[in-house]
Amino acid sequence: MLIDLITSLFTNFCILVTFVFLSGSLSKRYNFLGRTMSPLAGIAAGLILGLFGIILMSYSFPIGPNTYANLRHLAIIIAGAYLGWLPAAVCAVLLAVSRLLFYDITYNSLSAAFSLLLCGACCSWIALKPWTRLRKMTVSNLVTMGLVFALLLNNLDGFQTVMQVFPIELAASLATGLIVYYVAEYIQRSNELFNQLEVRATTDFLTGLNNRQQFQRHLENELLQAAGQRESLSLLAVDIDHFKTINDTYGHPAGDQVLIQLAQRLIGAARPQDIVARNGGEEFSVLLPICSLQEAGIAGERIRAAVEQDLFLLPDGQRIPVTISVGAACCRPDYDEAVSRLLTQHADQALYRAKNSGRNKVCSEPPYPRENQSYERQLI
Ligand code: GH3
Ligand code: MG
Ligand code: MG
Repeated sequence: MLIDLITSLFTNFCILVTFVFLSGSLSKRYNFLGRTMSPLAGIAAGLILGLFGIILMSYSFPIGPNTYANLRHLAIIIAGAYLGWLPAAVCAVLLAVSRLLFYDITYNSLSAAFSLLLCGACCSWIALKPWTRLRKMTVSNLVTMGLVFALLLNNLDGFQTVMQVFPIELAASLATGLIVYYVAEYIQRSNELFNQLEVRATTDFLTGLNNRQQFQRHLENELLQAAGQRESLSLLAVDIDHFKTINDTYGHPAGDQVLIQLAQRLIGAARPQDIVARNGGEEFSVLLPICSLQEAGIAGERIRAAVEQDLFLLPDGQRIPVTISVGAACCRPDYDEAVSRLLTQHADQALYRAKNSGRNKVCSEPPYPRENQSYERQLI
């Protein structure tokens, strides 16, 4: 019996760890832990955990002569501790129904189904408590074991017989519950670290915009798309005028505030499909898909005017004017690939001219016909 017990417990353990690993991969993709689930998602999660419980139910292990136990209740406990009351309730109902469907309907089956429903009710109630996941798992496990004890008393002959088998089931359930908890938490922590790493690798820490590397990825992608769709792709290179003076006059934290607020204004002025990035320092880029050079100039002018019009708020409450210079360039569908790759360079050249010809203006590469006039006047 001991060999059978060890083999079955090992099988149960493997099933549990596989399930926790698969759920962890899903959680990494959909990040459902710690979020309020929609009722539909809660029911779906409960059904999946219920199926998992059915698998556990079919891997029962011997705990005494003609007495078998299984760890199906752990599916309900996991559902309650990790996902909420609804998945726990749905999981318990599915397990109770399947207990009656897959086995002969005897007094024992009916009491087992009833105890599963009671277990579901307790785990759902515990799921609503503001407790840690470890506490929820442990308390749910102990309460469920209490129900199992009552069930065994009901189904077996006398307290003595129950005490011959119950300690083994209690030890198996508590030990497996703890192992599941540690594996699940380990996977969850790895998921969180992975997500943080992903955000750090793609996002500028100060402004939350795309960082230079992510912008480069977007640029490659958009160049391919523009070529495929035979559309123009434009780029605005944006640089704050005399930013060093702002830092020197008001301090570095004030400079940071200006950068954060400019990022917000760029996002506010951009279309949903535009890609805004901070390239580093006080230099930003706005990538404009399906946009001609003239339209890019208009967009650049809109942004430049928006920055000039509203004062920037510093941490000490002061409000200061800030201006930007903008360089616009466009990659037209008739350009060959080598020329397309010069988009960034052309935008930088235009920005350089905007800086050298007085700042607080929009220039383009190739230049607009009358670049020494303001862009609005050129459009008239
Ligand atoms: P121009 O009009 O020619 O662009 O002059 P500028 O002063 O804006 O440009 P310059 O390149 O001389 O100075 C940029 C300054 O930006 C220097 C640097 O200390 C500051 N800077 C770079 N990164 C940050 C940052 O993250 N926060 C703050 N506050 N300042 C930064
Ligand atoms: Mg600057
Ligand atoms: Mg600069």
